[in-house]
Amino acid sequence: MNPFALRLTLLALAAAASSALAQQFPTKSINMLVPYAAGGPTDTVARVVAQSMGKPLGQTVIVENKPSAGGILAPETVKNAKADGYTILIHHVGMATTPALYRQLRFNPLTDFDYIGLINDVPMTLIARANFPAKDFKEFLAYVKANKDKVNYANAGIGAASHLCGMLFMSAIQTDMQTIPYKGTAPAMNDLLGGQVDFMCDQTTNTTSQIKSGKVKVYGVTSLKRVPSLPEIPTLHEQGLKNFEVGIWHALYAPKGTPKAALDKLVAALQATVKDDDVKKRFADLGATTYGPEKATPAALQAHLKAEIAKWTPLIKKAGVYAD
Ligand code: ASP
Repeated sequence: MNPFALRLTLLALAAAASSALAQQFPTKSINMLVPYAAGGPTDTVARVVAQSMGKPLGQTVIVENKPSAGGILAPETVKNAKADGYTILIHHVGMATTPALYRQLRFNPLTDFDYIGLINDVPMTLIARANFPAKDFKEFLAYVKANKDKVNYANAGIGAASHLCGMLFMSAIQTDMQTIPYKGTAPAMNDLLGGQVDFMCDQTTNTTSQIKSGKVKVYGVTSLKRVPSLPEIPTLHEQGLKNFEVGIWHALYAPKGTPKAALDKLVAALQATVKDDDVKKRFADLGATTYGPEKATPAALQAHLKAEIAKWTPLIKKAGVYAD
């Protein structure tokens, strides 16, 4: 056989072997990377999804936290991981906001990933330490405006949902305050509970139990309609911040070039997860709405991501916030 024909044969054999491997996918556990600290809202969603997806996949889906301020390390790690289906990423609206917020982002959400699908939508809550001196939103507004030089706001770094919510809130009330970044809102919540920071805006998946047990004060939800699991909490919109709305969606991604056979199995497992009544109930109890299976697809995620980038980019540019 001449060298050229030999090379072609070897290439064909290698392609057949990798396609056969992808057909058998998964033969070992899968790692799901989380961009924020363990015990926080993204981690909570990840653990429910990982456990449920493991059933149809017949393998354990291991949740691996890769926390960083702004959540930019995990997407970069997944971008550079082997594209074999065994490393996937869960992320939220940060995939749509970081391109406008970071001048030097080392991943491109639109070109560096294969999409698996959308998971759920989660509202946020404006909360403060239990002894914050304001009993309702009206008093809260008056207090933070009068004390803007000493009140501080905890978030999970530039690009986090808590950063986005805080940035929009400060711009809506035309008052800037000091922000304190963490590698996730789990550690931020610890400091809020300890009284070291004053207030934050965080997903109901992290705040529901603290609100229900009275360990934090709550001043409103960020959805336009009240959240069914927290019906007594008014929206910020109804309390005068007209059209104030921040909704956090979660989705799953794989590195670009993941074999189609592996991707199809991941999509099928996500489909089973969003149809699972137990998953839907666990999310609903935490104020989150699970998307229907028509959204748990690569095409729906791609369209949603593009639309969200188009929605947030001008708002962020207008606010003039950048990280390097
Ligand atoms: N809630 C965080 C955020 O601000 C993320 C997290 O800790 O899961 O995006």
